[in-house]
Amino acid sequence: MSADRLRRQIAYARRNSLYYRERLRDAKTPPLLSRAELEEHFERLLCVPRERWADVSRTSGSSGRPLHIPVTLREMRRLLGSVAAGVAGMGVRAGDRVCILLPMDDMMNPTVMLEQVFRDRLRCLVIRVGARPPEQQLDRVLALRPNVVVGAPSPFLKLGMIAQQNGVDPRALGIERAVLMGQPLYGEGWRPNVLKERLDALWGAELFSIYGSTELYAGLSECSAHRGHHVLTDDMLVEIVDPESGQVLEEGVGEVVVTTLSREALPLIRYRTGDLSWLERESCACGLDSPRVMAVLGRTDEMLKIKGAKIYPQQVEDLVAAVEGVEGHVLEVYVDAHGQELLRLRVAVRGDGDAIVAQIRERVRAYTRVTPEVEVAHMDEVLRRWMAHGGRKPRKFHDLRGARG
Ligand SMILES: [Zn+2]
Repeated sequence: MSADRLRRQIAYARRNSLYYRERLRDAKTPPLLSRAELEEHFERLLCVPRERWADVSRTSGSSGRPLHIPVTLREMRRLLGSVAAGVAGMGVRAGDRVCILLPMDDMMNPTVMLEQVFRDRLRCLVIRVGARPPEQQLDRVLALRPNVVVGAPSPFLKLGMIAQQNGVDPRALGIERAVLMGQPLYGEGWRPNVLKERLDALWGAELFSIYGSTELYAGLSECSAHRGHHVLTDDMLVEIVDPESGQVLEEGVGEVVVTTLSREALPLIRYRTGDLSWLERESCACGLDSPRVMAVLGRTDEMLKIKGAKIYPQQVEDLVAAVEGVEGHVLEVYVDAHGQELLRLRVAVRGDGDAIVAQIRERVRAYTRVTPEVEVAHMDEVLRRWMAHGGRKPRKFHDLRGARG
């Protein structure tokens, strides 16, 4: 079934894209397609003229130049159906009141997609609140009483805290489910991270994560058994490859590589997402037998090898965020005068700075076997460093290895 789809998608790409025509000419196993290649050869990768575009999304630009990803009406409708099936598996029903707290502007793909999924496919009421200040979000929630929230983990946490500050118990608001994306809720071994623990404690809602990207124009939903994000097998194939050699890995953590099976405007053949995760292939407790993309542990370009050990900055960040009293932090890796790679953390803290610093040092050392340098910084300084790259999302990890000695 999916072998047929794969053959058809590849034949289609060769017929309609100048770039794929050359690249897939005689390759038995198609070569990997990097984000840089997608950027560079974008025009030649396109398979339909602009008159057939029905919607365009813009990537966040957190890695490279922002890209505008087009879809035709037909593929968009098809993908909506697949995403809707995944979301329905979370137990969302017709008549649910779904409050969308994601940004509504600048061609944001998940918003466009999920609005239609909930309203047109699942017959829910869609309450389009957007990413406005939490006080205003709370006001809308109180007025319209949604029972499902769609958003990003950190802003959803913030909303709960603002509710508390206003004398409203988040648990009393009646939010049964929260569909969250943009930041992981799980870490290595699919263990809930600190963000998920805080959200659980604050909201008492069932949390579901969605894994996706603008390039894919689709999201993979966490299932009712909470055992990973099920691959939409009619629409894509997922492989895990060694980020360095590009070899396919049968097990373990590596880069998520996706091949689309039903795309028209911009098919992606073995596209390197840059995300590090792993696949579970055995059938799932939820009843589905599609493979699952598990926790996203970080980005390939952020993976560090220090003293021979692989370190994922995001996992270090989770450890730091879990220390009581940490308000914000920045992780940096740099090279000292002796060519040693070192970790430095700048943390904004509340309470006993020395005790917090000692705890961070110990936790990070236990995980990485490297003792990080830890500096206490003002929150303004941390915020400034988060946004220094000029992108839309805060960046808490900075690789300074190329910058200076
Ligand atoms: Zn499942």
